[in-house]
Amino acid sequence: MLGQIRRQIDRIRALGATYVDARWYPYEEANYLLMWNGNLKETIGSRESGMGVRVLYQGAWGFSASSDLSDLSALFDKAFDNARVAAERVSFPVRLAEKDALQAKFASPSQIDPFQVPLADKVAFLKDLDDRLNQPGVFQRRSNLTFIRKHLILVDSEGSEIEKLITEVFAEMIVSGQDEQGVTHERKFRLANQGASTRGWESLDPKLFAENAERIVREMQQVLRADSCPKDNRSVILLPGIMYLQTHETIGHALELDRILGYELAYAGGSFVTLKDFGTLRYGSPKLTARADATVPNSPGSFGYDDDGVPAQNTLLIDKGILVGAITGRQMAEEANARAGRQLFAGSGGANRATAFYRVPIERMTNINIDPGQDGNLDDIVRNTEKGIVLDGDRSWSIGSNREQFHFATEIGWLVDDGRITQIVKNPTYKGDTLKFWNSLSAVGDASTWELRFVDNCGKGQPNQVMQMGHGVPVCRFDNVTIGE
Ligand SMILES: [Zn+2]
Repeated sequence: MLGQIRRQIDRIRALGATYVDARWYPYEEANYLLMWNGNLKETIGSRESGMGVRVLYQGAWGFSASSDLSDLSALFDKAFDNARVAAERVSFPVRLAEKDALQAKFASPSQIDPFQVPLADKVAFLKDLDDRLNQPGVFQRRSNLTFIRKHLILVDSEGSEIEKLITEVFAEMIVSGQDEQGVTHERKFRLANQGASTRGWESLDPKLFAENAERIVREMQQVLRADSCPKDNRSVILLPGIMYLQTHETIGHALELDRILGYELAYAGGSFVTLKDFGTLRYGSPKLTARADATVPNSPGSFGYDDDGVPAQNTLLIDKGILVGAITGRQMAEEANARAGRQLFAGSGGANRATAFYRVPIERMTNINIDPGQDGNLDDIVRNTEKGIVLDGDRSWSIGSNREQFHFATEIGWLVDDGRITQIVKNPTYKGDTLKFWNSLSAVGDASTWELRFVDNCGKGQPNQVMQMGHGVPVCRFDNVTIGE
């Protein structure tokens, strides 16, 4: 097959294409299980295979994909025809940033292939969790497992040949209950990476899940009896269970270069960031250093090489509060430099990814991380807070289409007065303006508070692509924030 792909790439190049690539997926498998109040509500297994072909001709892309690989010539011809039609109307010719031609392999860290684990074992794992979650006050309990395994090979006309084997495991458990007013509250736990480990079946540590099942039930029971979050102006101390989403929505999406250039306006939205801002915009306080780091071990945002064949990188986005970088691929880096009239980006940041062989790669978050700080652990930060609230667990979110402001609700809050936690509150919310909020960052927890959270549901692109990524975040405190509105 690889020989045939190379011959097709050479043939289309000879017809005048400036660049051709093929992403061949020998297979991509997914397995999803949902247990709901003791019932196995869903078990879904899927398997697909095929190839996607991109052709660049006179500055325009053409794309074609098929799961039927019996006629590769037709598949490549279709992509070329699409590029020729698009070339008649191109307004800003596509150019690709330079890259090295690589012959490479990448396998995500996994010990026990979850697709070799019997279904009965997966169901037994969920049943055990369900039994643990079945406690007084819990009226609904849900636990789910998602496994993904894929093998893909990228070949391009610049001499790259990259093979990837990716295994993903996502796990979540959620309990819901109703308070005296009949309002529903929930508390959840999701599998994350709390140190360098692997992501096969072995990552579903029964002890870890048992401890957290006990904790989320206890915390939800406390929330059911709690007073409502007051309307107030306080410091908010965000635990990783909400800090990851704050980072995702108001740093990650805001710094996708295709959004900044307006390519997502019709669907996902734009960004308040402009090309003029790089190197000068004070995005946050000097305590804020953020990066797109696709090199951290064991994360869905670490994939070896992106779908342009560019190696995973550790790109500084915000350096001690100043905006310095973006989430980039080969095309957008070149376009941004051309539109800015100066070199903003030295090359691709290796963040161009597609969710399937039948989708085109677009700029996606890798691991959008916040560096740990010097302000101690959670206890230290609480002790040094006069009037605050500790928040955890994403519940709802509302974000301006250009990511300029936000409103989040969380599952639980702990009020802090004079350096100690005084009470638990329900229905906590907070809101802010993105830049003002990040500039109010007044404490960043040390490495002991840092946790790498997995995200499996980030939507972007037309047609929609639901992508996996990670967020490594410490506990952070922000001052003077509106809560309870
Ligand atoms: Zn997202």
